[in-house]
Amino acid sequence: KQKLVKISNVLVFTEQMREVLLFNSSLKTGLENALANNQLYLVYQPVVDGQTNNVTFCEALLRWRWDDKNIAPDDFIPIAEQYGFIHEIGAWVLKRACFDAVEWSLGDDVAISVNVSVAQIMNDDIIDIVENAIVSSGISPGRLHLEITESLFAENIDKVIDVVRKLQAIGTKISIDDFGTGFSSLALLQNLSANIVKIDKCFISALNQGGRAIIQATMNIAHDLKFDVVAEGVETAEQVEALKLLGVNNLQGYYFSKPLRYAELNTFNLIQQSLDKVTEKQKTIRS
Ligand code: C2E
Ligand code: MG
Ligand code: MG
Ligand code: MG
Repeated sequence: KQKLVKISNVLVFTEQMREVLLFNSSLKTGLENALANNQLYLVYQPVVDGQTNNVTFCEALLRWRWDDKNIAPDDFIPIAEQYGFIHEIGAWVLKRACFDAVEWSLGDDVAISVNVSVAQIMNDDIIDIVENAIVSSGISPGRLHLEITESLFAENIDKVIDVVRKLQAIGTKISIDDFGTGFSSLALLQNLSANIVKIDKCFISALNQGGRAIIQATMNIAHDLKFDVVAEGVETAEQVEALKLLGVNNLQGYYFSKPLRYAELNTFNLIQQSLDKVTEKQKTIRS
């Protein structure tokens, strides 16, 4: 009886392996054509200043709609990296995001933040690609933030530092994404003069279970090393209050807004403006 169970375990395992392999190779084929077939698009998630409720920047997030299904970036970005599509896709994302930011009704002072894979950073063309997006869209370089995920740095740290300096020399700002999830977080901050640090959402959802200590430590270093801090994944009013008390002013998460299509983003701005008007009215009534 035991033998049978063992054999069936082995069978289940290989069947899963086969499915993963098939899934990945069909994703590869699908992704190969996704750009050409206009199946990729960007959504934008506002990041809000906790003091003023103003939108300070928006993060561009890639979406892929394929065969009436939405494929999550966490599923297809690794495939794009593995097969080298990330360079073409990444260049498209940068350009699209910059053109949208120049046109949107949120205003000229709202920055656009674009995720960049370490694979893109390791490619020698990256400086040209970023410059091309800036020049062709006419965006002012200081409005372009580039987010690099912290946990992926480790092996290539010297090269990453070199490219980051060049990107900052063009005028773009560098964000460390998912901060706190890697193994070298603190050493990294010292070596990489990032402009912005985005604290990973796992610390925000665990504010009462040790997350607070990590955020506090990050805020102390931010003061000394002079970078801005963003909290990712803010979902509740309690988290907003706690983060404000900790001095975190830039807040991003479903509490404020989910990622929005370009057209919806302009509506969000209208909602925001009417909210501001209501607060203004309340202020006048009170005084
Ligand atoms: P990320 O850069 O850390 O982006 C934040 C993720 O958190 C997004 O997931 C966003 O939709 C989600 N999020 C925002 N607010 C909340 C919240 O309040 N609660 C929770 N639970 N989640 C929230 P998404 O869009 O699925 O993207 C996943 C990851 O895929 C991104 O993580 C980023 O690393 C990568 N990615 C997305 N777009 C691009 C891209 O254009 N290029 C590259 N290289 N990577 C991208
Ligand atoms: Mg990001
Ligand atoms: Mg990221
Ligand atoms: Mg993140």
